[in-house]
Amino acid sequence: MSFKNITVAGSGVLGYQIAFQSAFHGYNVTIYDINDEVLAKAKTKFSVLSEAYKSDLQATKEQLEATYANLRYSSDLTEALKDADLLIEAVPENPKIKIAFYEKLAAVSPDKTIFATNSSTMLPSQFAEFTKRPEKFLALHFANEIWKHNTAEIMGHPGTASEVFDAVVAFTKTIGMVALPLYKEQPGYILNSLLVPLLNAATNLLIKGVSDVETIDKTWMVATGAPVGPFGILDVVGITTAYNINKMAADATRDPIKIKTVEYLKENFIDKGKLGFDTGEGFYKY
Ligand code: NAD
Repeated sequence: MSFKNITVAGSGVLGYQIAFQSAFHGYNVTIYDINDEVLAKAKTKFSVLSEAYKSDLQATKEQLEATYANLRYSSDLTEALKDADLLIEAVPENPKIKIAFYEKLAAVSPDKTIFATNSSTMLPSQFAEFTKRPEKFLALHFANEIWKHNTAEIMGHPGTASEVFDAVVAFTKTIGMVALPLYKEQPGYILNSLLVPLLNAATNLLIKGVSDVETIDKTWMVATGAPVGPFGILDVVGITTAYNINKMAADATRDPIKIKTVEYLKENFIDKGKLGFDTGEGFYKY
């Protein structure tokens, strides 16, 4: 089972990167989004991405021209799926939107098309029945700035066929990713299962007044050799994301530590517009 034609649904933060990375590695890529205006915006973002590929990957003019030649755009779902071997879904992280999308997708996709969700926080078993092809459905999770942070976590649900899983693992390697297979469903995959507790622990130490931002980061960096500490990571991830994750957990559990964290992040960062690296200030100034 090998792929030639890839369709990426959703041209937002992650979708346009997945599309470009796949086209860069020689696949015929069709980008689908809800209308032509959104797709036109994606086209303009590709020129910024090209600069990053030049500086970070030493991409040549010829390679980038070939990449552009491999990209197609469509706001017609049937057209976008025509002859697709693999559909990578990067639509908003909202279960209602994703379910509605899979229902539409199931109705128009060729039988052969494998569906992969890039969802960060949801499990493929939540959507499998709506795909009408559970054996050809799994999660394929990329990280932001995929050309540099080139992890691909591949996670099936109990009904995913093993040859489909293997084919997607093989595909990720052909687009320059480090393939990271998971053998069972795990909320947060491997990366966030490790990272979220670290970031939470650091925030709790700070809120309890055990130590300060610099000392907590320094402890982690010097003791483990890591180049950045948890607060440095939080600034890059963005404090809005940390706030949203904690808010969801606080609302669901009413855990007093979570509630305190949410209040702390809101008061000291969200309300002050200090959202991390992108806004010039978070736990640190940039
Ligand atoms: P985003 O909001 O930037 O982009 C979503 C895109 O989907 C937009 O272009 C939007 O027009 C389009 N869209 C909206 N409704 C649609 C529909 N009904 N059908 C098709 N397209 C539709 O979101 P994002 O940050 O790129 O996240 C997309 C997925 O990738 C989410 O599941 C998210 O969890 C996952 N993800 C995001 C990151 C990240 O750092 N942003 C990292 C890893 C995974």
